[in-house]
Amino acid sequence: THTTTAGIIRAEEPVLAHNYHPLPVVLAHGEGTWVEDVEGRRYLDMLAGYSALNFGHRHPALIEAAHRQLDRLTLTSRAFHHDRLAAFAASLAELTGLDTVLPMNTGAEAVESAVKVARKWAYDVKGVPEDRATIVVAADNFHGRTTTIVGFSTDPVARTGFGPFAPGFRVVPYNDLAAMEAAVDETTAAVLIEPIQGEAGVIIPDEGYLTGVRELTRRAGALFLADEIQSGLGRTGRTLAVEHERVLPDVLLLGKALGGGIVPVSAVVARREVLGVLHPGEHGSTFGGNPLAAAVGSAVVDLLATGEFQRRAAELGVVLRDGLTELVGRGVTGFRARGLWAGVDVDPALGTGREIGERLLAEGVLVKDTHGSTIRLAPPLTITADELRWALAALERVLT
Ligand code: PLP
Repeated sequence: THTTTAGIIRAEEPVLAHNYHPLPVVLAHGEGTWVEDVEGRRYLDMLAGYSALNFGHRHPALIEAAHRQLDRLTLTSRAFHHDRLAAFAASLAELTGLDTVLPMNTGAEAVESAVKVARKWAYDVKGVPEDRATIVVAADNFHGRTTTIVGFSTDPVARTGFGPFAPGFRVVPYNDLAAMEAAVDETTAAVLIEPIQGEAGVIIPDEGYLTGVRELTRRAGALFLADEIQSGLGRTGRTLAVEHERVLPDVLLLGKALGGGIVPVSAVVARREVLGVLHPGEHGSTFGGNPLAAAVGSAVVDLLATGEFQRRAAELGVVLRDGLTELVGRGVTGFRARGLWAGVDVDPALGTGREIGERLLAEGVLVKDTHGSTIRLAPPLTITADELRWALAALERVLT
């Protein structure tokens, strides 16, 4: 058996696919904003599972909901009803301001499901000729890793070697309403965008962009699909990032934090007539909406319904922004931030994002680079102001 960091990493080497390049730390325990490695060292988690851990590690209310459900019923498949799903769907619909829920598991599955729903809607409701539906997406998008999804990625690393890809997608520059308008026509089933592009480096569109997408899709008779899998559920200081422009899309994609950091839970949430295009047998998932997922998802929605996490993200977002502003010109060349979410561009002369990540690891702070010299900060929304300042001080030390 392997118990040291180096030993465990060595043991993974021959038996795991090498589709990740993790920082050299082996975690064994987590609580709130902190994790501990196999050698007892503690780290402040400033990645929070790519926003899957918005409520921190093992939030007591979520763990309790999971334990209670583990002792009752864990899986039924959708061949039968179970007693947790209606409450989960109703509360999620109420939280988002939409009507109906299609429960899935991972983010990529929610995106795939929304692509299917949008196409079916185009044929059944809009009257697009069979197999002609198109979906407009943005350059530098990240929506997941399935073949359909990477087929409309513009990142060569994500795409190259994985074709042939599904047709029917048109890529336009992000934050460019004129280009989107030009790409939309009578075949357009939907526009699919991230309200803030996460993996691209926390790219925040200009004020008015989301409103413009809403108006443009309404005029064109196309659906507006917002992928809030990373931006949603409190991260930006609101329940949804689209709320910053008071925009309600036709379809919302949620995932990550919806599973409370415990189980994979994702959902397509939409107006009734949109999900209404699906009939029995046309779509499904063995695990989607299972009792354990629904119990944890319900507990997540209950936490968000208090508004406490959105408020914390908004308030602590000011601390984050102020701290990063101080570092501009001192190792940081620029940053973009909203709520407790920031993409920080580090002076490439000081190292790659990966190297900054390794230096922060040595300081007891976990982060992940996105592209080149950009690191992403996205701590649990339970972080305190002091912890946040401590992480910013560590960033200052590794940059200066
Ligand atoms: N959509 C967005 C915006 C994401 O950030 C991600 C994951 O990073 C996904 C979709 C895919 O989610 P998953 O990894 O659960 O398939």
